[in-house]
Amino acid sequence: MRYGASGVCHSDLHVVDGEWSAPFPIVLGHEGAGVVEAVGAGVEHVAAGDHVVLSWWYPCGTCRQCRHGEHWVCSGNHADESVLHDGTTRLSNADGAVHQYLSIGTFGEQAVVPASAVVPIPPEVPFEVACLIGCGVATGVGAVINTAGVEPGASVAVIGCGGVGLSVIMGAALAGADPIIAIDREQAKLDLALEAGATHGVQPSGSVRRAVRAIVPDFVDYAFEAIGLKETVEVMPRITRRGGTMVMVGMTPEDTKVSFDGLLLPSSGQSVIGSSYGSCVPAVDFPRLAQLHLAGRLPIDRLVTHRIALDEVNDALAAMRRRERARSVIVY
Ligand SMILES: [Zn+2]
Ligand SMILES: [Zn+2]
Repeated sequence: MRYGASGVCHSDLHVVDGEWSAPFPIVLGHEGAGVVEAVGAGVEHVAAGDHVVLSWWYPCGTCRQCRHGEHWVCSGNHADESVLHDGTTRLSNADGAVHQYLSIGTFGEQAVVPASAVVPIPPEVPFEVACLIGCGVATGVGAVINTAGVEPGASVAVIGCGGVGLSVIMGAALAGADPIIAIDREQAKLDLALEAGATHGVQPSGSVRRAVRAIVPDFVDYAFEAIGLKETVEVMPRITRRGGTMVMVGMTPEDTKVSFDGLLLPSSGQSVIGSSYGSCVPAVDFPRLAQLHLAGRLPIDRLVTHRIALDEVNDALAAMRRRERARSVIVY
């Protein structure tokens, strides 16, 4: 692979900040797109010169989940170990092996990656847009369309308007939801949310419950948490209607405990569901998301608020730590 662009995603920051474990040393980055330079024996679904999006949770094809078509929860790949199928990595330094985050390591210009992590897309999609399909967009849009199955006319609230939250909003707009209430502390992110399809923006300076009730009197059908914070996950029951659905999309630091009143869910009929990688089958969903972008139905380009060089990646991570920026994208 020769990478054309890589997004800087919160999962990279979780590793940098020690909130998630990973093997070191490691080349981070997992939201990539680029051009195939060469393929190994037996690889037939891509060829040299193809434009591709990288999937960081690539299917093994044989585990129980893969056999059921649930590629997003495959248990047979080596992504967690950040190595290739054979247990090795093709990067090294003077001290030995260097890992590739989630087996792809997109904070670098080139990599050897598993064939099933590579999904061809139309070459008309710019790399800086295509790379975001591989994590934030698949995770956010997929949570709405695949995991929750939001129906036209449903009311939706989205907590957190970073790259994933904005993608949830785009997915909700695509599904025909209304109203779509964006909730974030930063006015700049709320402005982006309104551009992405939100009908209302709420800053949580006062009561979020009161603000949501002023828009939807009996609260929303679907709430999405797209940050990964205990405090904001626990807001969801207070803004979701009786019988409504709460979707956990944001990923918390390891060992974070989230609590709800034990009587609340059975008495209110609310459900909590977890959405992993937008319940996407990469080979099916990535080309579909690319096509929707080309058709003008998914304005992924609006997520790209900062284009940077590889050596500016630490600045991008620092900005993310301050909860600034929607998405920084490294352009190679
Ligand atoms: Zn990510
Ligand atoms: Zn599998």
